[in-house]
Amino acid sequence: MAKYIFVTGGVTSSLGKGIIAASLAKLLQARGLRVTIQKFDPYINVDPGTLNPYEHGECFVTEDGAETDLDLGHYERFLNIHTSQKNNVTTGRIYQTVINKERAGDFLGKTVQVVPHITDEIKRRMQLIGKDGQYDIVLTELGGTVGDIESLPFIEAVRQLQWELPEEDVMVVHLTLVPYLRAAKELKTKPTQHSVKMLSETGVHPDVIVCRTEEPLNNDIKRKIALFCNVKVDAVIEAMDASTIYEVPLLMLREKLDLYCLKKLNIKEFGEPHLDKWKLFLDKLKYPKAKVTIGLIGKYVELQDAYKSILESFIHAGAINEVKVQVVNVHSEFITKENVAEKLEGLDGLLVAPGFGLRGIEGKIIAVQYAREQGLPFFGICLGMQMAVIEYGRNVLGLTDAHSTEMDANTSHAVINMMEEQKKIKMMGGTMRLGAYPCDIVEGSLAHKVYGDVQITERHRHRYEFNNDYLDMYEKAGMVMSGKNADTGLVEIIELPNHPFFIGVQYHPELKSTVERPAPLFVGFIGAAKKYNETKSALISSLLQREMA
Ligand code: GLN
Repeated sequence: MAKYIFVTGGVTSSLGKGIIAASLAKLLQARGLRVTIQKFDPYINVDPGTLNPYEHGECFVTEDGAETDLDLGHYERFLNIHTSQKNNVTTGRIYQTVINKERAGDFLGKTVQVVPHITDEIKRRMQLIGKDGQYDIVLTELGGTVGDIESLPFIEAVRQLQWELPEEDVMVVHLTLVPYLRAAKELKTKPTQHSVKMLSETGVHPDVIVCRTEEPLNNDIKRKIALFCNVKVDAVIEAMDASTIYEVPLLMLREKLDLYCLKKLNIKEFGEPHLDKWKLFLDKLKYPKAKVTIGLIGKYVELQDAYKSILESFIHAGAINEVKVQVVNVHSEFITKENVAEKLEGLDGLLVAPGFGLRGIEGKIIAVQYAREQGLPFFGICLGMQMAVIEYGRNVLGLTDAHSTEMDANTSHAVINMMEEQKKIKMMGGTMRLGAYPCDIVEGSLAHKVYGDVQITERHRHRYEFNNDYLDMYEKAGMVMSGKNADTGLVEIIELPNHPFFIGVQYHPELKSTVERPAPLFVGFIGAAKKYNETKSALISSLLQREMA
């Protein structure tokens, strides 16, 4: 049976609870324990699949096709594990299960209530992953902030579990903010005191308090927090702002957060933390040898969280290539044929991001054309791949109104269209092509070179596909469909051979990139951008030399 660590948050949101939870899990894993991590979210949506990225950031998709909170992406990137449907539970899903049971008559005439029925279902789900002996420790991050009305049933479930299970099997880590008041030149502990008090009022007392802070906590401050919040001094952990999230596990190691938790859980068998690969990655990340500039073209570019996994994949791929990847946001709505060269000036690569709907589409197509014609490394993901297909159809094959039926239902050349089985679906939630699908790669292609393999699996989240009625036409015109699903024949990868790097994929490679296993396509793309940048610099310096001579 697993032991349980719950991570709650106080004072304010956006303190980085997901990163602290993932860092603690990483340290425990690095000490040889079998660890997994899950997130419980207090909102009523059954899953975040129907949430606008503006509301909630990226929707992360697991191998088994669950549409989940973006924190699961952090868990996978830190721990190098696959999470699943079970690792993300919302209030909506809890209620859905309980209401379905009620409709089936399972409660035998009882009044169905928050306590015990909702809390029982929460507890059941909290322990679901830990039951089969696969893990020593299950970390559970509770979304929301202590004091929110909607988090109460979750906190109550934790209280009950603390009461039901042996004392050494459950613990609570509470993350708070210790603000620094510049005018007074002082760190303030009051918000932490209030937050712990509020948590204690619900019957849950934290075992550890992790304090987010911009200034180091001195011993007096630590003692004060410990005294007023009723924890040991070494249970007050300083979490200073870090230059990168990947540094946080090492900061937590220095603060001995993992050791404190192991002691509380009475776990005696563990080793020294194996973090060699992690440290090597961090070194490369912090001391890059060169820089490449990548243009990210999308609809939500001003919103960092909307492309979380893509941005993190760039960090992983940059480190391995020993370059800093500077991502420049390009709003596709403002790109025209006249200004495209100026808008994309100085870039070493262009990534056209996933997305939905009509807005900014024409600008994306113009940008793809520019990258194709100018030999600028191009990488299209999902919608980005579809744009590359449309661009090639229009400008090379001469299908002037080539389009996706998502944007133009009446186009005479639906080069991207919906699969028959998708057309029947009326409901929005969980109905796209979701999760991992295998893909066969053509030998000798760019994709083959990049993956070093001819069989891969990658994750999906889309409704539209390349229309195979046009397959011959495209291949005759020089586009190589280098990856296909063997069962369905659906095109997964497109590429152009006479180009330094031009590749589009129907799936989402960014969802599988981790610190220890960077996504091959990102590694290849950044490698191509690096080469492009070097050639450009060499050209400029030889031109300069000629001018001076
Ligand atoms: N809107 C496109 C589709 O549904 C692409 C989706 C995506 O980029 N994730 O097929």
